[in-house]
Amino acid sequence: RPRALSGIQPTAGSFHLGNYLGAIRQYVALQETHDAFYMVVDLHAITVPQDPAALRANTRLAAAQLLASGLDPDRCTLFIQSHVPEHAQLAWVMNCLTGFGEASRMTQFKDKTAKQGADRATVGLFTYPILQVADILLYQANHVPVGEDQRQHVELTRDIAERFNGRFGDTFTIPAPHIVKETGKIYDLQDPAIKMSKSASTPKGIISLLDEPKVSAKKIKSAVTDTETEIRYDEEKKPGVSNLLTIYSTLTGTTIADLERKYEGKGYGALKTELAEVLVEWVTPFRERTQEYLADPETLDGILARGAEKARAVASDTLARAYDKVGFLPAK
Ligand code: ATP
Ligand code: MG
Repeated sequence: RPRALSGIQPTAGSFHLGNYLGAIRQYVALQETHDAFYMVVDLHAITVPQDPAALRANTRLAAAQLLASGLDPDRCTLFIQSHVPEHAQLAWVMNCLTGFGEASRMTQFKDKTAKQGADRATVGLFTYPILQVADILLYQANHVPVGEDQRQHVELTRDIAERFNGRFGDTFTIPAPHIVKETGKIYDLQDPAIKMSKSASTPKGIISLLDEPKVSAKKIKSAVTDTETEIRYDEEKKPGVSNLLTIYSTLTGTTIADLERKYEGKGYGALKTELAEVLVEWVTPFRERTQEYLADPETLDGILARGAEKARAVASDTLARAYDKVGFLPAK
């Protein structure tokens, strides 16, 4: 079986619809075909300031949402990044293999620091993609299910893996991004030129999965569209409507062509009202399942402890091989 690896940050409050459609749905699908490792990346979370108690709560909340989305601890390995110290240990080696200029070209860092300036960012935020390199390579992952915004980081991972293998001999599997074309980039509901994002979207532009379903329905109904009336998929000319069609199509399994036919001659109001209903029907049981996992922290922590144990077995083996290749003297 090929290996899959991905990580998701412990977002305050809840995951958003872009996270679910772009990434988490693919995690669930790949459980069936891959030896899959998924983690809540708390080490990545502290690249920006976090309140310790909130971080701890959000980490459990993230794991509960992943389970509520359909991750099955018997079919994949679900764990918390900081439970596996090998991530930080391999990241140091990767830091020493990455050029400063190379790291400086990462567009996500530039985007995230555009407002306040790179000087005010932490060094951790700067080297975040290199920790991600270690995350992926530790598991010898073949495929990395992510959204489109992460493509450049997976490319960096490939470059560094090839560099390591070239310099020290074959050690790491070269990973490929697994990005689903249709859902790789879900757009902000108020500004369909930018991706739905927990750090950049306004509250009205983002669907938070654990919000009151009524609140989410309202956001769908007030999504920005265009001044035409025709319901047609056209990313260039009709980005708002196209985004709603993508969301509708993915949540229901109906093709976009069928949706266009269904809404022929009908207005945007009908599309939005019905998509709002579809969304409410999806988030309602999702919220309930998340609450059930949160209500039983002992079971949840048990799942995470088993996951960490399985993950460490793989990660420690890779780390030992990498440290040996680099020339570190083994401890007796
Ligand atoms: P931030 O804006 O702080 O980076 P985020 O909203 O991008 O937060 P992450 O935790 O960084 O959330 O992303 C988790 C996963 O969700 C990643 O694989 C990412 O590519 C994917 N993802 C995030 N936003 C979207 C989106 N709008 N459409 C599709 N996939 C997305
Ligand atoms: Mg992101």
